[in-house]
Amino acid sequence: MRAMAASSNEPIESMGEPNRVLSGRLIVTIDGPAGTGKSSVARDVAKRLVLTVLDTGAMYRAAALLTLRLGITPTDGAGIAKALGTHHIEMDFDAETPNVLLDGSDPGEEIRGREVESIVSLVAAHPQVRNRLVAVQRAVAASHSRLVTEGRDQGSVVFPDADARFYLNASSQVRANRRVKQLRKKGHEVDVESVLEGIEARDRLDAGRADGPLIRPDGAIEIETDQLQLSEVVDRIVEAVRKTGRDS
Ligand code: C5P
Repeated sequence: MRAMAASSNEPIESMGEPNRVLSGRLIVTIDGPAGTGKSSVARDVAKRLVLTVLDTGAMYRAAALLTLRLGITPTDGAGIAKALGTHHIEMDFDAETPNVLLDGSDPGEEIRGREVESIVSLVAAHPQVRNRLVAVQRAVAASHSRLVTEGRDQGSVVFPDADARFYLNASSQVRANRRVKQLRKKGHEVDVESVLEGIEARDRLDAGRADGPLIRPDGAIEIETDQLQLSEVVDRIVEAVRKTGRDS
C-alpha cells in the first residue's frame, strides 16, 4: 500500500496566535458507534486545537467500495486483503477537509451510499483488512503528530497510548434520527425504521467482532450525547484535552 499522501510535517502555527508554534505530540482519539456525530465533533476539535483530523471510517468505507467494484464477496477477507495490496487507500491532507482517496481519486458520496453501508462492517471485520488499514493509520500519526482520529478502535487498539481518549454514545433512536436528518439534507429519501435497522445491524457486527471491536477503551472519557448539541460535545473534549496540558 502506498505511503500516506505527503503533507506538511512542520510545526503548526496556532491560528490567531502567529508567534506561538505548536510542535509537541498530541494524539486525541474519539470512538463510538455510528451516528454519534464523531466526524463533525472531530472536525471541530481539530479546528479548535489545530490538529490534523483522521476519519478512519472513510478508510473502511473505501475498502468496502473497492470490494464492490472488484466483485469480491464481502466475507472473503483474504481476497479483500490481496486487493488492498495492489490498490491504494490513502488520505488527502491537502483537501480542506481531509478525505480518503481510492487509487488516487476521491470517491465522494459513493462511500456514504447504501451499497457500501450494507457491507462495510463485514469488510471491516477481517483481521487481514484491519491490519492493513491500522498500519496506514499509524503511518498517518507518524507524520502528523498532532492528530485527532475517530473510529471504533482508535483508543483501544490503534493508539492505546493516546494523550486523550473519548467515547461518544447515544441511544440508537437518537442516532437514527440524526442520520435521517443528515441524509434528507443531502436529498436522499430514507425512512427512520430502515436507518435504525441498519445502524443496529452495524453496531452488532462492530461490537461482536474479535479484532478491534467497538468498545469504550479503558480510561476513555465517555460522553453521552443524546441531550447535547455538537458544540457542547466539542467544548467538553477541548476542555478535557486542555487539562492534559499537552494542547500547546
Ligand atoms: O464511522 P463510520 O460510520 O464511517 O464507519 C463505517 C464502518 O467502518 C463502521 O460501521 C465499522 O464497521 C468500520 N470501522 C471500523 N473501525 C474503525 C472505523 C470504522 O471497523 N476504526
